[in-house]
Amino acid sequence: RQAVYAGLRDVQPTTRDGTRIQVMINAGLRDDVANLNLTGADGIGLFRTEFQFLVSATLPQRERQTRLYRDVIDAAGERPVIFRTVDIGGDKTLPYLRHDDGEGEENPAMGWRALRVALERDGLLKVQARSLLEAAAGRKLNVMFPMVAEPWEFDAAKAVFDNQLAYLRRRKKVLPEAIRYGVMLEVPALAEQLDLLAPRISFLSIGTNDLTQFLFAADRAHPKLAERYDWLSPAILRFVRRVVRDLAGSGVDISVCGEMGGRRLEALALLGLGIRRMSITPAAVGPIKELVGKVDLGEITAAMERWLSAPPPDLRAALSAWAAERDI
Ligand code: PEP
Ligand code: MG
Repeated sequence: RQAVYAGLRDVQPTTRDGTRIQVMINAGLRDDVANLNLTGADGIGLFRTEFQFLVSATLPQRERQTRLYRDVIDAAGERPVIFRTVDIGGDKTLPYLRHDDGEGEENPAMGWRALRVALERDGLLKVQARSLLEAAAGRKLNVMFPMVAEPWEFDAAKAVFDNQLAYLRRRKKVLPEAIRYGVMLEVPALAEQLDLLAPRISFLSIGTNDLTQFLFAADRAHPKLAERYDWLSPAILRFVRRVVRDLAGSGVDISVCGEMGGRRLEALALLGLGIRRMSITPAAVGPIKELVGKVDLGEITAAMERWLSAPPPDLRAALSAWAAERDI
């Protein structure tokens, strides 16, 4: 199978009925970028910038951040890279960034993390914004904010970038050729305000890892709960379908960047819900490209519609049988 997947490296994933699907990779370290060429992925749909922070003994200074981001953009060439601003806090704590009270948290996943930290410690986000803007001088930049729950949080984070951009402009520095801003949809509350958010953003990426944990109120790291709820449950699938519908015609690009998209049956379901771009773990690119080539979008879309109107007792089993019948 490895040989089959390697053979798919230069194949552009296209469904049987002719729709090109974007298959991108998740990354976080400089070395991960090599996976772009190894897999032939369409870009980096999620670059987890906190990895540099997590492997450092001290807060990474601006020059070090800029160097990393520039190297990543260089290596990606024409392929897009979506940089997610730091998602630290929660379970990813940094010894050098102490919580205000110095105490642990009862519920770190829904605690002081990600954009919540970045907006309060805005020095952190300022440095990151400057680093990203400088690293992308003369090139395209895509910035994504994690754990956005309310549209104003997006506005506040973008304002930090706007300020840094204005600063660089005054200093007559070379600016990025284009900047696109987007959010991760991980907090269900944001889905209730997509109409308010849509005019402000260029793209939205559904983070199914955190989204699942929050939809089911089930800790993603808890050994008894991590596998308890199925990604192929009507709750998750209807949620995704609804996001796709709500954003239809808005011009906002939608993708999925959680682990869900890297599993074959889950990816099949996502295609049936209208998802056309996925960012997945590099090892899954070959299998997902192979899957895409076997799928008829019209068929899977009709099947998903049927299953979500009247869900069978075991949707996973139904989807699995459906796929097997078609040699998918
Ligand atoms: C997610 O929550 O789905 C996601 C992609 O982000 P992370 O796994 O880094 O929390
Ligand atoms: Mg997340």
